[in-house]
Amino acid sequence: NFMDKTIHIAVVPGVGYGHLVPILHFSKLLIQLHPDIHVTCIIPTLGSPPSSSETILQTLPSNIDYMFLPEVQPSDLPQGLPMEIQIQLTVTNSLPYLHEALKSLALRIPLVALVVDAFAVEALNFAKEFNMLSYIYFCAAASTLAWSFYLPKLDEETTCEYRDLPEPIKVPGCVPLHGRDLLTIVQDRSSQAYKYFLQHVKSLSFADGVLVNSFLEMEMGPINALTEEGSGNPSVYPVGPIIQTVTGSVDDANGLECLSWLDKQQSCSVLYVSFGSGGTLSHEQIVELALGLELSNQKFLWVVRAPSSSSSNAAYLSAQNDVDALQFLPSGFLERTKEEGFVITSWAPQIQILSHSSVGGFLSHCGWSSTLESVVHGVPLITWPMFAEQGMNAVLVTEGLKVGLRPRVNENGIVERVEVAKVIKRLMEGEECEKLHNNMKELKEVASNALKEDGSSTKTISQLTLKWRNLVQKNQI
Ligand code: UDP
Repeated sequence: NFMDKTIHIAVVPGVGYGHLVPILHFSKLLIQLHPDIHVTCIIPTLGSPPSSSETILQTLPSNIDYMFLPEVQPSDLPQGLPMEIQIQLTVTNSLPYLHEALKSLALRIPLVALVVDAFAVEALNFAKEFNMLSYIYFCAAASTLAWSFYLPKLDEETTCEYRDLPEPIKVPGCVPLHGRDLLTIVQDRSSQAYKYFLQHVKSLSFADGVLVNSFLEMEMGPINALTEEGSGNPSVYPVGPIIQTVTGSVDDANGLECLSWLDKQQSCSVLYVSFGSGGTLSHEQIVELALGLELSNQKFLWVVRAPSSSSSNAAYLSAQNDVDALQFLPSGFLERTKEEGFVITSWAPQIQILSHSSVGGFLSHCGWSSTLESVVHGVPLITWPMFAEQGMNAVLVTEGLKVGLRPRVNENGIVERVEVAKVIKRLMEGEECEKLHNNMKELKEVASNALKEDGSSTKTISQLTLKWRNLVQKNQI
């Protein structure tokens, strides 16, 4: 139909809840601001998709379609690979199906742009073939993006492991950070995973643009550095903060119960404790955290997951088994803390929790979504990074934005109970608490402005879609 002025784009998420939901929320925002856009979301999966993704898929507006590509089976991948590589290999194995899907779409509708998750960059190879502009949706911090673009240079300049560098590393526009806080995947430079990753960050530069889920006012330094003329990077578009407005699939009684428990607590008195969709602590760390919470004498709402000794992200890519997480808590803990605490083992309604007036702090693994959700709801953080780029987010939150505190980790990688209690008290009461709350209040304010009618991110999205609209019109002449 030559009169059809719809802007058709295709979107390819990464694998796992944490890489599906953000790009869908971005798609929703796009069509809400620009109803002449139509999105087709093409989803690669490893094993069967987690049930948590279903709710969001079922509630998509009519101008977002989705389809699943045939499942890649975990047994098809080499065993024991880091999560990032599993995600990438799943995408690699899905490429032939993706090609088919794009081909049949392109026969029916004129596709203008292909937007893919950062872990699905290989999909961008098809953009040229189908005459589409290519974009990466980067659902991590702009600082992390700046670091990624800088990595090849750092790799050339450095001979040792990054964590052995004595001084913090400086990247233009970013808070200097110690090598040990860099992405987990760059911690062993002799590994195959590192080489793979280095290749991966180099390929980010081939896109026509990178859309980053952050906003100018929160990451002015890295965003200005990234968008500077002559930086040699692709165009960078800060489009955030994009977060979900309610947590879907709170069909579970445990999840709802915690909200009525919160209703009974005093304003700003509760510390919410969660390590994201996949973070798991060691058994020893669960015990120290529990005893620390108890020692702190503060109210808490804790999402407890069964421990894992092998990896800190055991539950990330696939649904966790039904191990009863409560059996790993210290004996008598639940009984002793029944007045102060509420423990939840199911999927927590995180958005409802963070927006609840009783919540005054968030002990978080600092996944980017959790970090943004905390900022949007104005809740100061205790940063407890575990894997991926969480250490970098922790540095941004504590040293850059000064809206959080970071506990000290002992030489065995454990945060001891006394340290847990100390950092909780600092966050929840006294002078430091007030300062953190004030800083967070300011950040919350600018976060809400960024996506208002004349906000910085709204303007950026308009620029982007204008480019697409012009292309559609040009093609019609
Ligand atoms: N989340 C939730 N309930 C849970 C655990 C996680 O709603 O019990 C949501 C949380 O609100 C966030 C996402 O899952 O939107 C986790 O993303 P994040 O980037 O913080 O961490 P990841 O899970 O990717 O490590």
